Amino acid sequence: MTDVIVVDEVTRTRTPDGVRYECRVSGLGPSHPLRFDVIAASHTPARSDDWVLLSLLMPAMQTGRDLRIDGRISPLFLYAARTDLQFALRRYDPSLSLVRIDADLCLDPAPPRNGVRIGTGFSAGIDSFAAIGSFRAAGLVPALAVTDVFTFNVGAMGGGRGANVMRAFRLMVARLDEFAALTGRTAHAVDSNLQLFYTPLRNLDFVRTHTMRNMAAASLFQAEIDHYLYASAYSYDEITIDSAATMANFDPILLPLIAPEGMRFHSANAGMNRIEKTRVVARDEIAHRMLDVCVAPAARRAEAISQRRNCSRCWKCYRTMVTLDALGELGSFARVFDVDHYHERTADILAAVKKKGTKGSVPDRAAHDCYVLAKSAAAAGLSVVQAVGGPGGGPDRPALND
Ligand SMILES: [Zn+2]
Repeated sequence: MTDVIVVDEVTRTRTPDGVRYECRVSGLGPSHPLRFDVIAASHTPARSDDWVLLSLLMPAMQTGRDLRIDGRISPLFLYAARTDLQFALRRYDPSLSLVRIDADLCLDPAPPRNGVRIGTGFSAGIDSFAAIGSFRAAGLVPALAVTDVFTFNVGAMGGGRGANVMRAFRLMVARLDEFAALTGRTAHAVDSNLQLFYTPLRNLDFVRTHTMRNMAAASLFQAEIDHYLYASAYSYDEITIDSAATMANFDPILLPLIAPEGMRFHSANAGMNRIEKTRVVARDEIAHRMLDVCVAPAARRAEAISQRRNCSRCWKCYRTMVTLDALGELGSFARVFDVDHYHERTADILAAVKKKGTKGSVPDRAAHDCYVLAKSAAAAGLSVVQAVGGPGGGPDRPALND
């Protein structure tokens, strides 16, 4: 096999649903083109081909093959991809190799736009709802507001393109459309076969690569979106590169390096821990009926998405229910969780969360500790806010504005 990955025939074509971005990839396993389909009522195509480099940089570094792209890349991103970005990725995964990148520069000026558009992914999870609610929580609406919401099929729903994965994606798009309609935002979806280029390669599973994959899709909106909020999974306390278990552990370092010209990528709420995010989400009435944190397998996920119900039996459902209970908010989420099951099995569920925390999960340990603190405070006659922090309270954290 050649030691160079060659990308050519980079095209963008109007389709009945939006725009198809496509390129031919030689020297990297799959013989079919790499494809991203934007599904949106209207779409202004990206000027640069940054999506190609974002998609293929890690596979190139993993296989040690240089990357030759017959396309145009944003200058700062190409600079980073030839220097700091590769150094950061090698700190993260020392098995990656430094590679040469050959591509042209995209120097087209950005056309003027009316107003600031801010986008974020919508998965209906805690991080997602917290990203959408963060400006309101800081008292900055309407000066800053999320105007656009996105769903990307780049591997989060499974490594292939099987029936369960595609069904889960369609249901997520339907839920995205419903959320956008309810909140007056604009919805965009992207379907891609990118996962087929990652699945055969060692060490490139989704949690190890998700930021590069998702931002490849986000970069297609370079001509429309000014700021893209990528929901953080970890707070600054947990940021690390060297021993990072997941790519999310260094999103705040990575995101500024990979944004296309004219667009900024932000790690949304990277200063908040999961308890604080959950408190922001607990105030959101739409989250009361759409929150989806479940990590059940794809077939059951599809069922859960269509029913708007979490399984209430997986580790992530457990952690979220315990946190909401500690905050005194679980009752508001009775439509999406089996609250009766929770109350019948509280001791067992709490023990499961504690065990996961003991094994090293920081968010599970925090959820357990929050619960214990809240319940002991309640027994002493203190409010939940006084016990676990919040507006006007909290031992370690600055107060959030209401
Ligand atoms: Zn679940």
